[in-house]
Amino acid sequence: MSELYDLEAARSPEQRAYMAGLEARGVCIFCPEHVAAEQRLPIEHTGEHWYVKRNDYPYPGTVEHYLIVPLRHVVTFDELPDAAGAELWAIRRALKGELSPLATATVERSGDMRLNGGSVAHLHTHFVALAPDPAETVRFRVSARGAPDSTACARPARPGTPR
Ligand SMILES: [Zn+2]
Repeated sequence: MSELYDLEAARSPEQRAYMAGLEARGVCIFCPEHVAAEQRLPIEHTGEHWYVKRNDYPYPGTVEHYLIVPLRHVVTFDELPDAAGAELWAIRRALKGELSPLATATVERSGDMRLNGGSVAHLHTHFVALAPDPAETVRFRVSARGAPDSTACARPARPGTPR
């Protein structure tokens, strides 16, 4: 089993092949010592517990897509001290100040990446800036994949509802 990456969560065949190669070499792209060699976009800020960079794979529909990543290789948020939570808040406040977005969203998956939709085991917080007319609805999967078509029937019809 993959320890560092969930290949099933890759969003393109290229990304999947890239992740498989990293897994084979035992390289975690989110450990700060590997960012320069393995990622396209550089670390923009390093704090005490976190670093901040733009996502190499910004999600369609976002205006900006940042990753806020612990300097330590941890998998769950509660492996970090409370002070890291305060720093995370300060980083989000600084990004909001810099970007002046109309709205933002923050998504952080924690724990077993096969269950939370993550693709990299190393904890990371997505911070996206949003605008009124996105080319696509911004979507984050935050669970294992459901049964086929499970989203289509997520809202059961009420009795008497015309179909
Ligand atoms: Zn790591």
